[in-house]
Amino acid sequence: MTKKILIYAEVTRENYIHTVFFELANKAQELAEKLNNAEVNALLISKSGLAEEYKEAFVNSGINKIYAVEDDRFQPYCTDYYQKAALEIIKEIKPEIFLIGATNQGRDLAPRISTALHTGLTADCTGLDINEKGQLAATRPTFGGQLMATILCKNMPQMATVRPKVFKPAEKDNKKSTEIIYKNINLDDVPKHVEIIEFHKKLQNTINELDSAEIIVAGGRGMKNSEGFQLLKDFADKIGGVVGASRVAVEMGLASHDIQIGQTGKTVTPKLYIACGISGAIQHTIGMKNSNKIIAINTDAKAPIFEIADYGYIGDAFEILPELIILSEQFK
Ligand SMILES: Cc1cc2nc3c(=O)[nH]c(=O)nc-3n(C[C@H](O)[C@H](O)[C@H](O)COP(=O)(O)OP(=O)(O)OC[C@H]3O[C@@H](n4cnc5c(N)ncnc54)[C@H](O)[C@@H]3O)c2cc1C
Repeated sequence: MTKKILIYAEVTRENYIHTVFFELANKAQELAEKLNNAEVNALLISKSGLAEEYKEAFVNSGINKIYAVEDDRFQPYCTDYYQKAALEIIKEIKPEIFLIGATNQGRDLAPRISTALHTGLTADCTGLDINEKGQLAATRPTFGGQLMATILCKNMPQMATVRPKVFKPAEKDNKKSTEIIYKNINLDDVPKHVEIIEFHKKLQNTINELDSAEIIVAGGRGMKNSEGFQLLKDFADKIGGVVGASRVAVEMGLASHDIQIGQTGKTVTPKLYIACGISGAIQHTIGMKNSNKIIAINTDAKAPIFEIADYGYIGDAFEILPELIILSEQFK
């Protein structure tokens, strides 16, 4: 029988398919090949009409079947309704693997599903593979980020959540002939234990800025003080970038947690990542190592950040950054 990988196609409040779905769909093509060409299917729980509206995007992401459960009561997100819909589909199609984005919604839904199905869930994975026995090998940091653990799950489906930006979406279309399979789920008897009453907008939207930034100039303890971070900002402004920070810089009060990059912060994949005064601890590099090009500026030639950097400046960021600012003005 053909094996199945199911991916949760999260719908945002604005009724878009969350980008993490496309990243997972791309990774799933690779996993599917190792599972003797397993089917890659999507689970879409949404208000009416979205499966048809987004069909082209599913086709291009290499999805074989879209299991669409549509009902206007699915908006806004309601834990109990979504749990019931997801459980019914999973019980019916019995996927080997179920992948979910580690977003707020995914983090709410995934453990409820794994608990109900008595299966394991590896949360916040940074790597997914299929081992020689055909099992999902889900890798994630453990023991406070000191070790990377590859976790196997004995029960089905093998579940994992993955943060946005850990994998890349497909660069070219993965076109397949995609079928939409509509499913009706009776929500009338579902007790609502949790209800979203109101949304509060964040005042500072730096998170989205980091998400979409093509250039990030990030600072760590080596940037020492607010003048150091101002230098980063001046340089970032000159080259059309935004500022990011290590956790130590956040703890020193030099930057807000919103712009922390790493295991307990954001995962970013800009075209260019410039790490200034950052040593390159694994908990930091986990959040930025997939950047296209990495430049490191550090006084210590042995700093681990140089191991993943494409270009390195060994020297004082307080001397190098002002020179780069002058240089960038000349190239305007
Ligand atoms: C559970 C857990 C989760 C964590 N999550 C995160 C996370 O999400 N993100 C994160 O970043 N960290 C995280 N950490 C912390 C992480 O382990 C490191 O402590 C942290 O990344 C180090 O920050 P840093 O590189 O700024 O500081 P340091 O490691 O102290 O490095 C400072 C660097 O600056 C250099 N330097 C000093 N002066 C200059 C100068 N003038 N010019 C140039 N270079 C200079 C030094 O040579 C040094 O390499 C986590 C830790 C744990 C245990």
